[in-house]
Amino acid sequence: CGIVGYMGNREAYGILVGGLHRLEYRGYDSAGVALVNEKGELNIHKCKGKVADLENYAKDKDTDGSMGIAHTRWATHGEPNDINAHPHYSESASLAIIHNGIIENYSVLKEALMENGYSFRSTTDTEVLVQLIEYIRNNNHCSLLEAVRSALKKVVGAYAIAVVEKGNNDEIIAAKQSSPLVVGIGEDEYFLASDATPIIEYTDRVVYIDDGQIAVIRRDQPLKILSLDNEEGSVDIKKLDMS
Ligand code: GLU
Repeated sequence: CGIVGYMGNREAYGILVGGLHRLEYRGYDSAGVALVNEKGELNIHKCKGKVADLENYAKDKDTDGSMGIAHTRWATHGEPNDINAHPHYSESASLAIIHNGIIENYSVLKEALMENGYSFRSTTDTEVLVQLIEYIRNNNHCSLLEAVRSALKKVVGAYAIAVVEKGNNDEIIAAKQSSPLVVGIGEDEYFLASDATPIIEYTDRVVYIDDGQIAVIRRDQPLKILSLDNEEGSVDIKKLDMS
């Protein structure tokens, strides 16, 4: 179970897959990646098995894009298979999410969403969260950040998440509660990971996200940290010991 993210000027795919390899020691049953390319297309590739299986699966697929998110899954809800692998995407396929942890109240949320016409492809707890974010975004006509924030206020459980959106290759919204999450700050680029091991080869400047915090990663903008109540937090940059 691991999370990797990248936004910058390089091709994201190699960095993301390299990062997943670095997190392999944590154990997992499936792997996947979501990329948003220059045209704003959102491409998701995922499968059961090793990171090497994902690379093999994706080798003739479109993996372009200078931002993306990637995941290794340790199944808690739903058997390990291709459909249950992350990233999961919303009803309209405009949002993609990766998640480590457990959404404990997922069945209540799922029922409510189904009553509102949402259907589910996977049997995971995670898919409920991305559907809820889309539901809120559509109903409140709000920003992605606002939709993620309100969705998380309805969620009980543990999570490290990252969300990206079709048509928006300038933004990754990430958040943490009881599962680890670190942002790496490079020169005009950002990294995201469950721990610093995928980041250290690129930068020694990291920000450890605290429980109840949202990290707003936007292209060419300073990192922003918010609480679930929308209060801006300080960005405390730590220097990793590279020796
Ligand atoms: N609960 C989620 C699932 O089963 C995430 C598991 C994980 O942490 O990898 O898909």
